[in-house]
Amino acid sequence: MSAHVPDRRQPGCKKLAWFEPSDGTRVLVLAWTCDCLAMVYELCQAGGQGFIRRTLQNEDAPEIRETHRWPLAQAREIWAALLTGMTR
Ligand SMILES: [Zn+2]
Repeated sequence: MSAHVPDRRQPGCKKLAWFEPSDGTRVLVLAWTCDCLAMVYELCQAGGQGFIRRTLQNEDAPEIRETHRWPLAQAREIWAALLTGMTR
């Protein structure tokens, strides 16, 4: 069963900054959330760093955004926080 980002944010939920996706680098997707929701999140690795990518599944054109890149261990922590409503 795939993970779901909770509906509710926890108190003190940190806001992530989201940017236009950078292209070029090869990305390895390590984990992802269930696609039953319009917004799908992926934990990605590129060149030893980690980041989170989100895709809003529009009918015509999906809207893709990415976070900053972090050391992989930190990206995994932020991924865990995302899945528990501690960051978004
Ligand atoms: Zn689902």
